[in-house]
Amino acid sequence: MEEKKRELIRNLIAEGYIKRKEVAEAMMKVPRELFVPEELRHMAYEDTPLPIGAGQTISAPHMVAYMVEAAELRRGDKVLEVGTGSGYHAAVMAELVGPEGHVYTIERIPELAERARERLKALGYNNVTVLVGDGSKGYPPAAPYDKIIVTAAAKRVPEALLKQLKVGGIMVIPVEEEPGYQVLYKIIKTPEGYVIKKLLPVAFVPLIEEE
Ligand code: SAM
Repeated sequence: MEEKKRELIRNLIAEGYIKRKEVAEAMMKVPRELFVPEELRHMAYEDTPLPIGAGQTISAPHMVAYMVEAAELRRGDKVLEVGTGSGYHAAVMAELVGPEGHVYTIERIPELAERARERLKALGYNNVTVLVGDGSKGYPPAAPYDKIIVTAAAKRVPEALLKQLKVGGIMVIPVEEEPGYQVLYKIIKTPEGYVIKKLLPVAFVPLIEEE
């Protein structure tokens, strides 16, 4: 497993997805095999999304690397993740923000949230809080956030998330611009408004918003 993990990370560096050594170290530390169903453990270090139950997926490692690089995660950051899924992405971010930072992660499917919470606790991630609910509304009690990462595709950028981002903060979010066509946005909040950079076409499960 360790050799497969090392090879995956070497490839992600060679392909340009991992740029900073901190990201390589964070991904080296997190055991992805413990975030996928037991029968798929042998595929944990293939660069592909995998099913995690309830019709959802754990994102491919290159997408996790790409998103944390785009969000410029740093030690001490307070991060909000929408779409906990398996908890893997949250664990990678917890490594990057360190004990002086914190990751709040929201999942709408209670069974997935519960499983992620147990895994993260067993692995000793005390700087992650797993919440159940509609993440498109954010989590106002801990706002504002340095970074917000959304791991499901929204029809439009939720207003509540923009509000809960710090000035100078970064949000990375897939947006379905047209049916079947999603683009990953990097949004920087400035004192004057928002700067939106369109990064690349992507394929995420939909963000399900409550009415
Ligand atoms: N980050 C995850 C990981 O590391 O395993 C992968 C997330 S998966 C691609 C997207 C997740 O977003 C799914 O688990 C889905 O249930 C969740 N989701 C969709 N809409 C949501 C919403 N409004 N609030 C919270 N979670 C949502």
